[in-house]
Amino acid sequence: MRNVIKFGGSSLCDGASMIKASKTVDGDTVAVVVSAPGKRWRGDDKITDLLYRSSYGDAAALENVRRRFENISRSALIKDEILGEIFTSDFKDRLWDAPFIASRGEFFSAKIMAELLGYEFVDAADVIVFDSGGAPDIPSSIERIKAAIKDKNVVIPGFYGANKNGNIVTFPRGGSDITGAVVAAAANAKIYHNRTDVPGFMFCAPEHCEKYRVIPKMTYGEAYFLSRGGAGVIHADAVEISRRYGTVINVRSSFDKSSPGTLIGDFPRAFGVYGISGKATSDKLCAVSVGIHREDDGFDEARRLVISKTPAEPLEMTDDGMVFSVPVEKFDKTMQTLAAIL
Ligand code: ASP
Repeated sequence: MRNVIKFGGSSLCDGASMIKASKTVDGDTVAVVVSAPGKRWRGDDKITDLLYRSSYGDAAALENVRRRFENISRSALIKDEILGEIFTSDFKDRLWDAPFIASRGEFFSAKIMAELLGYEFVDAADVIVFDSGGAPDIPSSIERIKAAIKDKNVVIPGFYGANKNGNIVTFPRGGSDITGAVVAAAANAKIYHNRTDVPGFMFCAPEHCEKYRVIPKMTYGEAYFLSRGGAGVIHADAVEISRRYGTVINVRSSFDKSSPGTLIGDFPRAFGVYGISGKATSDKLCAVSVGIHREDDGFDEARRLVISKTPAEPLEMTDDGMVFSVPVEKFDKTMQTLAAIL
């Protein structure tokens, strides 16, 4: 069995977590994709945010990155050489190059994880291809990854790649999920294991739902719809790539084994309202996405119920759900009222 695992940043936030994460990688795993170290606690900074701030001239942020990288290297018992590979004079000279600087978080995580696992480090700049317009070239990337993982196990940094001129280009924020989906497609993985800090895809974000539950199985369409709506569990583009290449995704917590998480694949569609997600779209407005299938029996009834609980008419209606735009001050209440009908 060939599996691909992608670890999110909160699972790699410090040295101890990196060691713990590396111990969950089993022998069937041909490739591991990693995010940059994330928040260690609520209110902490993600390395990627610190790196962006560094590239805009914030010296304190850069110092903070250095300290965190040093601590991780020490507690993961990794040689300081890796730090030397990052903080080269090239790094200081390229602070203006925000994509390059931002990519060093994933680069660093992958170097450490490769050492911990004894896997080969493959730089995403050599295998994830972007075209001159900044769009990822998925078929070319898959070809390159196939060649890179032939007969060996590898660790690949998420979030970035390079264009034909060798310049680093990044995916949107949260884009390591996209790298994971591309690598899983290239490896022909049975399952793309997306390991994160939540037990799986929830019917609704826990802050809005008292008894939040994990959705055991979802279709690609359902996961895509709720992700686009702001579910924040996996990047919507990663779901779309996995759909295209027929990879089943398993999203679950890296360290909490009590939930098997969510499987995303070609499963039967859910009936009625299958989930809710939301996000701010401006200072004043939020989008609320209600997952509900247009062709389901009972659609009209469910739709009427949803509209009666929402302070606006639907803005958009797709086969997988309805999107509403609500004023910021009504967002929490709307989410809670809708969650109560799940
Ligand atoms: N480190 C990047 C971010 O914070 C990419 C990722 O974690 O997926 O957005």
